[in-house]
Amino acid sequence: MKADEILDYEPFINGDNKTEGLFIDALYEEMIFHYKNSETYRKFCIGRNFNPCEKTKSYEDLPYIPIQLFKTKKLLSVPENQIVDVRKSSSTSTGSPSMVYRDKITLDRYYRSRNKIFDQFINDREKIHFCLGENPGLDKTISRNLVNSLIGDRAGTSEQHYLMNNENLDWKEFIDKFEHCIKTGKKIGLIYGGTAILYLHIIKPLMANNIRLKYDGYIAHGGGWKKMQNMQVSKSEFLKELLTVFDMPGTNIVDMYGFSESNSMFIDCEYGNKHVPVWNKVIIRDCNTFKPLEESKEGIIQILDVLPHSYPGNSLITDDIGYLCKKEKCRCGRAGQLFKVVKRANGSEAKGCGDMLADLMERKIDK
Ligand SMILES: [Zn+2]
Repeated sequence: MKADEILDYEPFINGDNKTEGLFIDALYEEMIFHYKNSETYRKFCIGRNFNPCEKTKSYEDLPYIPIQLFKTKKLLSVPENQIVDVRKSSSTSTGSPSMVYRDKITLDRYYRSRNKIFDQFINDREKIHFCLGENPGLDKTISRNLVNSLIGDRAGTSEQHYLMNNENLDWKEFIDKFEHCIKTGKKIGLIYGGTAILYLHIIKPLMANNIRLKYDGYIAHGGGWKKMQNMQVSKSEFLKELLTVFDMPGTNIVDMYGFSESNSMFIDCEYGNKHVPVWNKVIIRDCNTFKPLEESKEGIIQILDVLPHSYPGNSLITDDIGYLCKKEKCRCGRAGQLFKVVKRANGSEAKGCGDMLADLMERKIDK
């Protein structure tokens, strides 16, 4: 399939006619599949006067599904017996969790995509890992455990420490294990977990106890910005405090942006730009008109993803706010689209425009 072909490319290259053509072909190939196999998606398309089989629209004109719809609809395009992985996102204050159903094709693509992206940012393979979560094998229904199992596999035969037990993380245990590795000359490759967990359970107690650790591996974090926003901790404050407790190169701190419905991950390079692989596109839309915005203008983030095969997640609109960066090649040397996230959706606030859009769409589908 075309989506698998585009995954053979390196993620961060300048799109040429060939990859651009492959991208749009792969996108249509999957959308046609969903149109034929998912009644919910077909109704959604009909409600938007869109028939993917006609292949007439450019990617900016394709209809988009709000990710909130995964909370209320079972979005599935293959028979249930082909599903090999069902994940729910941790439910938020707004209620029900998102459910994402992956068949083998989609799950393989998820692993290939995220590993290829990771390889471009983090040198952690076959090195010791510290995960600020529980062993992902314990609960295979939770979305964040899919990320943790993917990252965990990268440690290969090296030690993996899972520091969360029954939702508790003991920072003293972390220090003991960390220092034991240093004393015995073992190289730690990666510490990873949710941003808020890292902040609350490691950085804060280490700060309070004046502990500073020398470290030359990587720290990868993501997924807790909503909580950080609620605590009013900015990204720069977070980084400042992180570098106070970890004496490490700032370039080895990796901010991951993703969501459970997405098969890719968008990682900040050392210049603070999120890089988009060739198998994704990011469109920023005006919060009121939903028209695509030019570079530098803030709006709602839409992600095109050629990879979902078992669910119609090829064009998703998030509830997060961001902007596209100017097109010059990033100073880090990676090519392709660049964007920044300004604000993550916040479940405790009034409904965001993504939520309102979801309500509208649901009414259309239910008609
Ligand atoms: Zn860059």
